[in-house]
Amino acid sequence: MTGHQPNPGTGFTLQQQATEVIELEPLVRALGIHHVATIDAYDVDGLENAYKDLMSHEEPAVLVARRECALLPEARRRWVPLHVVEEKCTGCGICFRIGCPAILKSEEMDEKSRKPLALIDPAQCTGCEVCSQLCPHDAIPNRDQIRLAEEHQPATFSTPVTGGS
Ligand code: SF4
Ligand code: SF4
Repeated sequence: MTGHQPNPGTGFTLQQQATEVIELEPLVRALGIHHVATIDAYDVDGLENAYKDLMSHEEPAVLVARRECALLPEARRRWVPLHVVEEKCTGCGICFRIGCPAILKSEEMDEKSRKPLALIDPAQCTGCEVCSQLCPHDAIPNRDQIRLAEEHQPATFSTPVTGGS
């Protein structure tokens, strides 16, 4: 996750030539760090649990969050953009705090809270599903949910929020 640039863990040089992959975990252990964990950078629960576990030790620990850059063309082709389901979004704002540039405030307001609903810009969304994991109201279906809904209940996820600001 380096913004397109290769690093010693990618197996490619800056000139895009194949090279040795440096494994960070044995490197860190060789420096005398006993507590090393590797986690998918998009696994929100996994990251939280790994942080808690590593922070419980009275000595240095290292967490390796492993993922390719989400903006690489092959990553963009692999995943589809997500969307917000208007009927489920309460405008709670939790997804706004992720800092994802694809999540915008809609011109649509929640009737009770009078807060703006969330809106996902499909041109910017990489489909990483982090927002889907964090939404407490199930308002951002992930890929599996979208696929299941399309197979069994075509109308369930059919009303995305569209009024951007
Ligand atoms: S999409 Fe989910 S997390 Fe984002 S504002 Fe709506 S209810 Fe809250
Ligand atoms: S899926 Fe990822 S990139 Fe798309 S809106 Fe959610 S957090 Fe942003």
